[in-house]
Amino acid sequence: METLVSSPTPESLRMAGEILRSGGLVAFPTETVYGLGACAMNASAVRGIFEAKGRPGDNPLIVHVCDPSQLDLFCTPMPSLFPLMDRFWPGPLTLLMPRRPALPDIVTAGLDTVAVRMPAHPAALEMLREAGVPVAAPSANRSGRPSPTKAAHVLEDMEGRVPLILDGGDCQVGLESTVLDLCHGRPTILRPGGITREMLEPLLGTVDLAGSILRPLGDHEVARSPGMRYRHYAPRGLVTLVEGDESQVLEAMKRLYRRDEAEGRRVLLLCFEEHIPDLAGFAHCSLGSGRHPEETARVLFDRLREADTMQMDRIYSEVTPVQGLGLAVMNRLGRAASFRTLSAREVLGET
Ligand code: AMP
Ligand code: MG
Repeated sequence: METLVSSPTPESLRMAGEILRSGGLVAFPTETVYGLGACAMNASAVRGIFEAKGRPGDNPLIVHVCDPSQLDLFCTPMPSLFPLMDRFWPGPLTLLMPRRPALPDIVTAGLDTVAVRMPAHPAALEMLREAGVPVAAPSANRSGRPSPTKAAHVLEDMEGRVPLILDGGDCQVGLESTVLDLCHGRPTILRPGGITREMLEPLLGTVDLAGSILRPLGDHEVARSPGMRYRHYAPRGLVTLVEGDESQVLEAMKRLYRRDEAEGRRVLLLCFEEHIPDLAGFAHCSLGSGRHPEETARVLFDRLREADTMQMDRIYSEVTPVQGLGLAVMNRLGRAASFRTLSAREVLGET
């Protein structure tokens, strides 16, 4: 299959709408990451997403709408969701809603709830309007790889697997949406993202965090969000996080770098912009300013992909505090590292 990459023009958006209505796949930009869409009401079209991504069939998809009036077709939102939709849609907030039988099982992996959001990217909204159907769309990467935040990332993973990629430039947020569950007891964030806990609590009171956001799922623990079970966001090289006092972290990372390099490994340091001047002679990439997690969010997946392009065997990364968007950043970094973390003090032998 030829893959056409086009900026979102009236013609390419019309073509995208036609492809989606006739059961095909389209990769498209959103404010979070690029999505790989298919008509949510068409089971065989949705099966195509799982095949193109190599995604496990028990990991449900998010359904995208261009207007809340589309919800009635496939779900029954509880009244408690309306203030959230009013405040945060369009935007990076995905809400769980009781599903209707008309929605194919494959979209929800058999669960009785469906995850729904209205994206804020103008090209995504226009494409959804052209399609006229709700669109099921996970991130447009091959399963397990870092999510795509530019059209070139999508092409890397999906060339020959999709007929059309709409190129809307770099994604503004750079991390996937927040997944919020109001269907099962206390409001709970299943996956942190662009809408932070701090933004939700003024409307909802205390918001819980699913257990597996900052640690691996236990052997006998049931994932409230099936996606939490899988290795995710990981480059091919081994990622390790280094935490501790700012004064010690860089020294520790340099020590680890030299040790691995002496063993013949290719090593990359992921550091905040403020520390880049101290890294002459070490292969490194910037995570943006350590004071602005939104900068780190925007570049993180690109840096993890770059580590692959540079064929790095070992990647050491700084960490950021888990407040605001920092929680989503640390969830993705943590999972890319399978939560492997070293203490700078221990690395420097000061325990
Ligand atoms: P992605 O499509 O790659 O952005 O991933 C969607 C995320 O939403 C995954 O972590 C899914 O497990 C989660 N998700 C989708 N639908 C549901 C649902 N009905 N209940 C819980 N989590 C869901
Ligand atoms: Mg994904």
